Amino acid sequence: CGIVAYIGHQNASEIIIKGLKRLEYRGYDSAGIALMNDGLNVYKKKGKVSELEEFIKDKNMKSTIGIGHTRWATHGEPNDVNAHPHFSQSGKLAIIHNGIIENYSALKKDLENKGYTFRSETDSEVFINFIEDIFNNNEGTLEEAVRLALTKVVGAYAIVIMSSDHPDQLIAARKGSPMVIGVGKDEFFLASDATPIVEYTNEVIYVNDYEIALIKDGELTIRDTKDVKMTPYIQKVDMEL
Ligand code: GLU
Repeated sequence: CGIVAYIGHQNASEIIIKGLKRLEYRGYDSAGIALMNDGLNVYKKKGKVSELEEFIKDKNMKSTIGIGHTRWATHGEPNDVNAHPHFSQSGKLAIIHNGIIENYSALKKDLENKGYTFRSETDSEVFINFIEDIFNNNEGTLEEAVRLALTKVVGAYAIVIMSSDHPDQLIAARKGSPMVIGVGKDEFFLASDATPIVEYTNEVIYVNDYEIALIKDGELTIRDTKDVKMTPYIQKVDMEL
């Protein structure tokens, strides 16, 4: 399983599809991508990345921001609906998630009692609606809602979230599942390991557990779940593909 995301000035879908193929060795059963053009759009398919590629061939994939995922199913069988990205109830947020949310059924019950309905059987869809619910019931930003959500979820995750209200921003976080951020010139690449990144930049940041990265208007800020600002450590990677 794997994640790839991009924000900058290049064609996001090309970078993401290519990156997902580089992560194929990690194993997966489905693949998907979300982009921003005429709103937030999600395309996902059970099967290989090449099948996703075939599926999106005739679609408008023009976007300079996007998130992509290969799934290794833990909650819900491998099918198109359970594939990532997942929308929140409002359709304004999309998430990619690698890992497992262990307390998802308790969170799901609470959300169902509040009137939320779910399209998929995944823990990941519960996760994004939990974030949306916190966001809707608090004054703060989406980043703050993600931070609050992370203090309450139990499990492992590498996540990237897109919001149609903020087409210039990505929010990412990890605990237990890997995440690397590639720093380019006015562009950022996020992935499970450096292989999708190194052909664009050799400057990378290995995100630590309990860190939340906000990339907004070309700036990267990393905070921990206690809202303490971290100083990102940029490393040079030297990797042969
Ligand atoms: N637990 C999530 C699911 O079953 C994510 C699995 C993964 O890491 O790909 O959809």
